[in-house]
Amino acid sequence: MSGLKVRLEDIPPEGLRLEFEEGPELLADCFPAQGPVAARVFLKKSGIDVKARGHVKAEVRLACDRCLEEFVWQVDEDFEVEFRPQASAPLREETQLTREDLEVIFFEGDEVPVGELVREQVILSVPDKRLCREDCRGLCPVCGKNLNTGECGCPRRAQSPFAVLRELMARKAQTG
Ligand SMILES: [Zn+2]
Ligand SMILES: [Zn+2]
Repeated sequence: MSGLKVRLEDIPPEGLRLEFEEGPELLADCFPAQGPVAARVFLKKSGIDVKARGHVKAEVRLACDRCLEEFVWQVDEDFEVEFRPQASAPLREETQLTREDLEVIFFEGDEVPVGELVREQVILSVPDKRLCREDCRGLCPVCGKNLNTGECGCPRRAQSPFAVLRELMARKAQTG
């Protein structure tokens, strides 16, 4: 995987503070990022594990689920994870289950994949439902016009019964 890696022997007992930027190519196979992915990470050894906490900032371009227009999603997230050597995975499976709140990333060899961690945090921060704005009106089901830019004049009865119902309820909520 791509991105910054830190050798275990380079992490002193008091911990290691990093501030770095990854290029947009870190996210190349997920979403286009505009500009760099900026991260602050504090690494501290804990037995054979390495605890990491920090912050990631980035801007990624997403396509809206409703109107299909591209929009910029701001990533601005704190995180706390634990790196654990791959070799210890089967052995320590039981302890892992008791620490449900902390995300664990396994690593191979003697390098901690910090860039990969940052990449994962960006991916986790992107919501399943991607909307350019909360009240995006989407596309007209008849002519395909983006309704955020204005009415198209298509007859409303062409909508599905569910959509009509939803609209009635929305109207009621507005007036009532
Ligand atoms: Zn939209
Ligand atoms: Zn239309």
